[in-house]
Amino acid sequence: MMPWLERPWQQLNTSFKAGRFHHAQLLAGLQGVGKLALAQGLADAILCENTSELLACGQCKSCALIAAQTHPDKLLVSSEGATIGVDEIRAIADFIYHSAQQGGNKVVIVHQAHKMTHSAANALLKTLEEPNAKRFLILTCDDVAQLPATIVSRCAKSNVAVQSQQQVRAWLIQQLGDYVDQPWIDLFVSQPLKIKHWIETSQVEQINQLFNSIERLGHDTDVSECVELLMKSPELVSEMSLFVQERIKQRLCEGADFFKITASQRALSEFIKDHQQIPGLNLQLALLKLFTSLKQALQ
Ligand SMILES: [Zn+2]
Repeated sequence: MMPWLERPWQQLNTSFKAGRFHHAQLLAGLQGVGKLALAQGLADAILCENTSELLACGQCKSCALIAAQTHPDKLLVSSEGATIGVDEIRAIADFIYHSAQQGGNKVVIVHQAHKMTHSAANALLKTLEEPNAKRFLILTCDDVAQLPATIVSRCAKSNVAVQSQQQVRAWLIQQLGDYVDQPWIDLFVSQPLKIKHWIETSQVEQINQLFNSIERLGHDTDVSECVELLMKSPELVSEMSLFVQERIKQRLCEGADFFKITASQRALSEFIKDHQQIPGLNLQLALLKLFTSLKQALQ
């Protein structure tokens, strides 16, 4: 178990042993902090036949089915895309309704529940309002503010977060070795699995390139490479924004002109707002506009 998951697990385990474990659990925390790993651990424990604690034994028939990823009483609902639709959520009601094939509990994980569309959330609410014995629902969520309050209020909520930079660094070194020396590592210390994912998918070069381009903004740099990179990997826009934020802070510490700092902050917030709110935004134009303002302001 990742060391920072132990605290929420302990709390859940205490309520489990006391027979107070809620049928609907919400695990809230930043993307890349390990909520899905925790949710999987909980689900496996709930399904295990030998468990007196929230920990799967790894030996029983249920645990064998889980290891083979063929447990018929476990359902994971998740989406690679931007939304989770109503059909996927309706399938949960169906799954819960039928009796458990192994005769025990049934568990559904909804990963990144904040991605549910309005009608999907309504469908889930119906399921939450009619709790069934031996049925458990575990939701993970990157941003609770994006979940309807009616759903949040029907769940037992646990916050998942790293506890210290030191703890994460030790874990990353153990997992990834030398890679931990990247200059941007500390910016993502609250999202350790994000770093791990970049390294495992060979995206480190891209992140380095992005970081270095932003570092050099304000000097006479050509931003076209940076724009090109972000057009190819638009999922890195939030990382770019974070690097810009850091660069602005750095310039402030170096004693840069106050008006220039304000101008660059304004350019960044405008970009972020447009990026989040305007569907079909021309990203290339928006990036060029942002970098042009930043080049002047960060000189
Ligand atoms: Zn077991």
